[in-house]
Amino acid sequence: MAHVVIIGGGFAGVWSAAGAALARGDADLRITLIAPNEQLVLRPRLYEPEPELATVELNRILEPIGAEHVRASVSTIDTDRRVVVADGNEIGYDRLVLAAGSRLVRPDGLPGAERLFDIDTPDGARRLTDHLRDREDHSVVVVGAGFVGLEAATELAARGRVLLVDRSAVVGDQLGAGPREVIEAALDDLGVERRLGTTVTEVGDGYAVLSDGSRVEADAVVWSVGMRASELTRQISAELDHLGRVPWTIGCVPFPRCSSPGTRPRQRSTPSTRSCRPASTPPRSARSPGTTPRPTCSTCRCATSPPVPMSPAWTWAVPVGSSPGAGTAG
Ligand SMILES: Cc1cc2nc3c(=O)[nH]c(=O)nc-3n(C[C@H](O)[C@H](O)[C@H](O)COP(=O)(O)OP(=O)(O)OC[C@H]3O[C@@H](n4cnc5c(N)ncnc54)[C@H](O)[C@@H]3O)c2cc1C
Repeated sequence: MAHVVIIGGGFAGVWSAAGAALARGDADLRITLIAPNEQLVLRPRLYEPEPELATVELNRILEPIGAEHVRASVSTIDTDRRVVVADGNEIGYDRLVLAAGSRLVRPDGLPGAERLFDIDTPDGARRLTDHLRDREDHSVVVVGAGFVGLEAATELAARGRVLLVDRSAVVGDQLGAGPREVIEAALDDLGVERRLGTTVTEVGDGYAVLSDGSRVEADAVVWSVGMRASELTRQISAELDHLGRVPWTIGCVPFPRCSSPGTRPRQRSTPSTRSCRPASTPPRSARSPGTTPRPTCSTCRCATSPPVPMSPAWTWAVPVGSSPGAGTAG
């Protein structure tokens, strides 16, 4: 029986398992999801006052779709032998999906870094909630005015005073200019102060020092800057981007031995199994308007499934605490 192994039990891993189950039809296909956690964590909801509610039992999703959950951590991926090592045990695969996600990167050498809070994980979010509970009208400094920082700041503003700090001169720098006006209006409505073009240089007991030399009151400093992809990406690609991710333009490379379409994965040692050559992106002239270009493998065309339809317009939705979400489209 062909075997699809998925590393990771977050949105991407669960979605992959569901996708494989949907594609399976009547075929003989075993689907195994390997992740150390029993629960799918709804990370975008970790800024809420009760982060423990932002989880769903993995087996409530995996059992009905006939996917197995192996509760373990993968340390090694051997693409030549097509095995992964999970908690010391080898598990063979025909197709592998790496969906081990990312983690927040905490700052190196920041005085008082051990006092920082985060909402990257359920434990981090719970620690922050517990720390602020029973503190009347608390003051919180949120570092980073990206997606996560904006969500944290706007939610925490409903429970106390918030100062949002970012090195950039504008909020939501990476979100582009489109949604900025809406975000700024929401921050104003919620009374979130901003100190832009600065960062935190020290965290102490009840205070933070900013790079402009000022010292501000802070019952908690929430770090929401910087992420790094799972270290497992190093084992499948020599080329990674600055966040440790496999560049999508080399989508074939992680599977150095993939089967041609039309061959069943179990036939992996037959001559129909070939190594992918570096992927190429279709020339601009070959792309249809409103579609996402996909890299194609020049040997086995393993990534030549139909382009994903893409709306020519875009939409941002940023939850902003208890007030209606800020959204904009362009
Ligand atoms: C507070 C917050 C707010 C956010 N808000 C938004 C938002 O509004 N909109 C949005 O689009 N995105 C948002 N995001 C980002 C979004 O949550 C992530 O992009 C998404 O959860 C990533 O899903 P993932 O499955 O790729 O990875 P993850 O959720 O990181 O899951 C990774 C999985 O892999 C497992 N794993 C890791 N290492 C191993 C290993 N070695 N072996 C086996 N398993 C392993 C983990 O245990 C986990 O199950 C937010 C994130 C946070 C933290």
